[in-house]
Amino acid sequence: YAAFPNVPQAPPDSIFQLTARYVADKHPNKINLGVGAYRTDEGKPWVLPTVKKASRQLEENPDIDHEYLPITGLPQFTKAAQGLIFGKQNKAVDEGRVISVQTLSGTGANHLAALFFAKFYEFPTDKKEIYISNPTWANHNAIISNVGVTPVSYRYYNKETIALDFDGYLEDLQKAPERSVILVHGCAHNPTGVDPTAEQWDKILDVFLQKKHYAFFDSAYQGFATGDLDRDAGSMRKFAEKRVPMLVCQSFAKNAGLYNERVGALHVVAADIKEAERVKSQLSVLQRSEISNPPAYGAHIVSMILTNPELFESWKNDITTMSGRIIEMRDALFDLLNDKLKTPPPPGRKDWGHIKEQIGMFSFTGLNPDQTKKLVEEHSVYLTGNGRISMAGLNTHNVETFAKAVDEVVR
Ligand code: PLP
Repeated sequence: YAAFPNVPQAPPDSIFQLTARYVADKHPNKINLGVGAYRTDEGKPWVLPTVKKASRQLEENPDIDHEYLPITGLPQFTKAAQGLIFGKQNKAVDEGRVISVQTLSGTGANHLAALFFAKFYEFPTDKKEIYISNPTWANHNAIISNVGVTPVSYRYYNKETIALDFDGYLEDLQKAPERSVILVHGCAHNPTGVDPTAEQWDKILDVFLQKKHYAFFDSAYQGFATGDLDRDAGSMRKFAEKRVPMLVCQSFAKNAGLYNERVGALHVVAADIKEAERVKSQLSVLQRSEISNPPAYGAHIVSMILTNPELFESWKNDITTMSGRIIEMRDALFDLLNDKLKTPPPPGRKDWGHIKEQIGMFSFTGLNPDQTKKLVEEHSVYLTGNGRISMAGLNTHNVETFAKAVDEVVR
């Protein structure tokens, strides 16, 4: 008999579906700007040279075995990953108030954090709610809903100006009840590529302090925004310094190119060492029932890179290569649309400057759903319906083809 006669058919994941359509497309000049993964100038996935070096060293290490890791992960990995977010000298870390748990990449960190909140946070009202930016990484909605918490949107992006709706953002933070949980992207906001400036972060921080909000940081792109790991952690370090209650969900998928190894961590900054220990003990209980213990390979690779000065320098070069190529593509696309083709900019903009102002892996082009559909159907250029493109999908061989396609669908 059918045990699940009433299970409705779920829609496929839109990004993965887009990739499948791209793969099936026979067009010789097809372009995939959907998925958020780095590609070389040849349009190929990139195994970071530093990861290759670390991997060779790991293979030769006779002490490496396949025993279970501790429930909270590889200690040298979580310690080093913590240092990467909070910096070498951080008061919260020195005071023992930061606890870290290895997770299944950024997604696993977001899930574990959301689950912990669902179970233990004293929400300001009867409703369990976590605030997310409008728009945000689509999975945030699902991750939060899955643990019985309601995602509530705060204003973030202004469609008219293709820039930050800073006033709307601050107003919504002000309007939220005291002690609300606010999910913020550490840097390189996905999907918009629109980040607050340092001055704007200071004002956002003031509201967090004033309203005693909890900062739920998602950091999936450290290094990808500016190419500088420390600068990209600036927002989180500032919040920790000013003692905003906070956590950080950290992913090494993008900045170490370790997508399928699922390397990440959840860092919680507690008020004192006792709270830190209690929180860690409960995260450990949750982790045990969810995954028992995390996988080791990627954690070994990352901890070697973070603790060996030579590998660390080499990794910083790899990051510069990736972020630099993306910035070059921003410049190239801007020059083509704005100067060469004189493509009419989106309504509300006087030029295509937003392509260069935006930061990190993604760009919100300002193309409308109709134009996006035409790009997919008539030009075999694959991008999401909201007009987001992965800058890493562009390269010196296809950027002109892409710009011309945009020019055609816009006119
Ligand atoms: N958070 C954001 C904002 C992301 O864009 C992503 C990946 O696209 C993630 C988290 C998690 O990625 P992963 O689970 O591969 O580390």
